[in-house]
Amino acid sequence: PPLYMQRYQFVIDYVKTYRPKKVIDFGCAECCLLKKLKFHRNGIQLLVGVDINSVVLLKRMHMLAPLISDYLQPSDGPLTIELYQGSVTEREPCTRGFDLVTCVELIEHLELVEVASFSEVVFGYMSPGAVIVSTPNVEFNPLLPGLRGFRNYDHKFEWTRAEFQTWAHKVCRDYGYSVHFTGVGEAVGHWREVGFCTQIAVFQRNFHGSMSNAERLEPSVYRLIYKVVY
Ligand code: SAM
Repeated sequence: PPLYMQRYQFVIDYVKTYRPKKVIDFGCAECCLLKKLKFHRNGIQLLVGVDINSVVLLKRMHMLAPLISDYLQPSDGPLTIELYQGSVTEREPCTRGFDLVTCVELIEHLELVEVASFSEVVFGYMSPGAVIVSTPNVEFNPLLPGLRGFRNYDHKFEWTRAEFQTWAHKVCRDYGYSVHFTGVGEAVGHWREVGFCTQIAVFQRNFHGSMSNAERLEPSVYRLIYKVVY
């Protein structure tokens, strides 16, 4: 399967194993991951997508509308889906108390100063039970044919494994998380040494209490674009 599918599948497998009830996808863009999670719910009750670009949300939000089959199939309890325009560098009260935050190919679109605010907002302020962050591994780039510079014109940086891990370990020290590293897309033979094409960090909050049942605050910073309750 193509790399982007492998990234989505990684999240789906995680959800299947750990069964988070409240999930936020940051930088959700075309809502493809949200649509897959809606299909592979595994007990998810609240699914939120956030992107700074409202145009792409408005164009694709209808993919999340209920299908006839959603009403025919017995569902596992109500599911709420919300889409917001907002930035991961802003503190939004309604994003606290989540079990899982996913950031698939998002951080490399931020300036480095914004990465610092992102870390503070996500790990410090929102403090979710777990966070999955994926980003390109620049050490893999020589294996990509015809590539000069970064993989996308909008990338502000692409990190080596060491750079990514340095950032992640600092986040863990600052905000009380543990992390392990993995990835998707492996080279063959001796090229395996360059690591995965996409590097992934999976963070787990060290404090295990759940904030999932606390009352959810009203959105006050983000702009609600779409909401549906099944
Ligand atoms: N996660 C999706 C996927 O894997 O298919 C799309 C990732 S796309 C490469 C990066 C997305 O991040 C874009 O849709 C962009 O608008 C969004 N983005 C960039 N800066 C952001 C910010 N500060 N806050 C929220 N979203 C942002």
